[in-house]
Amino acid sequence: MELYELTLKQAQEFLAKNPNRKDELTKTLADRIKQVDSKLNTYINFDSKHAQKNGDVKGPLSGIPVSIKDNIVTRDWETTCASKILKGFVPPYDATVIRKLREAGAVIFGKCNMDEFAFGSSCETSCFGPTRNPWNLDFVPGGSSGGSAAAVAGRTAIAALGSDTGGSIRQPASFCGVVGLKPTYGRVSRYGLVAFGSSLDQIGPITRTVEDSAILLNVLAGHDEKDSTSANVPVPDYTSFLTKSVKGLKIGLPKEYFVKGLDPEVEKAVKQATSVLQDLGASVTEISLPHMKYAIAVYYVVAVAEASSNLGRFDGVEYGFRHESSNLRDMYFETRNQGFGAEAKRRILLGTFVLSAGYYDAYYLKGLKVRTLIKQDFDQAFQKVALVLGPTAPTPPFRIGEKMSDPLSMYLSDIYTISANLAGVPAMNVPCGFSAAGLPIGMQLTAKPFDEGTIFRAGSAYESATKWHEKVPKL
Ligand code: GLN
Repeated sequence: MELYELTLKQAQEFLAKNPNRKDELTKTLADRIKQVDSKLNTYINFDSKHAQKNGDVKGPLSGIPVSIKDNIVTRDWETTCASKILKGFVPPYDATVIRKLREAGAVIFGKCNMDEFAFGSSCETSCFGPTRNPWNLDFVPGGSSGGSAAAVAGRTAIAALGSDTGGSIRQPASFCGVVGLKPTYGRVSRYGLVAFGSSLDQIGPITRTVEDSAILLNVLAGHDEKDSTSANVPVPDYTSFLTKSVKGLKIGLPKEYFVKGLDPEVEKAVKQATSVLQDLGASVTEISLPHMKYAIAVYYVVAVAEASSNLGRFDGVEYGFRHESSNLRDMYFETRNQGFGAEAKRRILLGTFVLSAGYYDAYYLKGLKVRTLIKQDFDQAFQKVALVLGPTAPTPPFRIGEKMSDPLSMYLSDIYTISANLAGVPAMNVPCGFSAAGLPIGMQLTAKPFDEGTIFRAGSAYESATKWHEKVPKL
């Protein structure tokens, strides 16, 4: 086994036995990037000068390289959100999650490709060109954290951070055959995450195993006074849930999830995964999330409203790219016109529209009300069951270019993930099969707020009973 193939847990064990070989781990990964990343394009910015050692800091991640989605700010290291408007922006501070990783001894390794400002489901809207799916280079890796997920699957990263506003950790994890967790809203600090939809955004781990996800969440989770929406809720040791059996665990399958539009191969794989958990002692019942059919519509009101307001700060004055002009109005206009890509512009226009006087009540306020109904659906479900199980994405990965000219069909790929963000609940993608074409399929495990433990419990039990996570894409 090559060193770049190690899981995070295996890397911990390797370095415990070979403390002098820390640099080797970083170097083998850097060589791997040189070898395969011209095909995959998982990194926007990788520079061994920045992949500082940090290896002398003693901690649970001492010497272990972790890769970072490029919308999480890193001190003295360019952070672009894959947008021309932020090219050249070097943040003067670290995000809280970066500080925590450094304090745990991790090596901040590289900045991963993504959809521009995290708008997208395919990693094709990056101004640095698309990332490709390591299982088949003609297919998308999902998005928006497509670079992070493809890096973990393609072995150009050991573990990575992503961000998830409507599915951006879980859907690419599903498309790349890796584990991706969106924690409960408030579980992980958003300080230093470039805001998209502030009431929806969460940072989370993308890893090859459920165990690695728990190890990383232990480092990331916790209250942060720099983020007023972070929750002051005790952080358990998430690895303590890994060995627990699922005997007696109540799982609900929402009847609204298994309907027309769900690809038959995905349905089959998810149903088989359910049987595996049943065989391990879990009980499975049908439940209902009646307002789920409004999730995409509500999301594309709430998320674009927040995005249009958050993107107001990129005007050429303070950050990144500026189009010089003799008058101020043209400077603003051309900076934003040239700096933002088509999808970002679409969202700014939509968001400005739904927030404008005369429309605010009809769209934004109505959206917030339906959002409450979606949250109540989950509250009711979690009175009956401890875990909701379903597909992560309605289809296996699609081809590069397939959905770029049809934004609505692109938006539909998040149909199963968006409601967890609207409700603030934690949800994880766990690989559960492959299509006949050899592309990964994932299932989504959702629990009640701050109950990531139950997700780790079921996810790790499933992973121990199956071998999907052992498959490696050939590059
Ligand atoms: N694909 C969704 C969107 O385009 C979700 C993105 C995300 O979670 N950042 O908005």
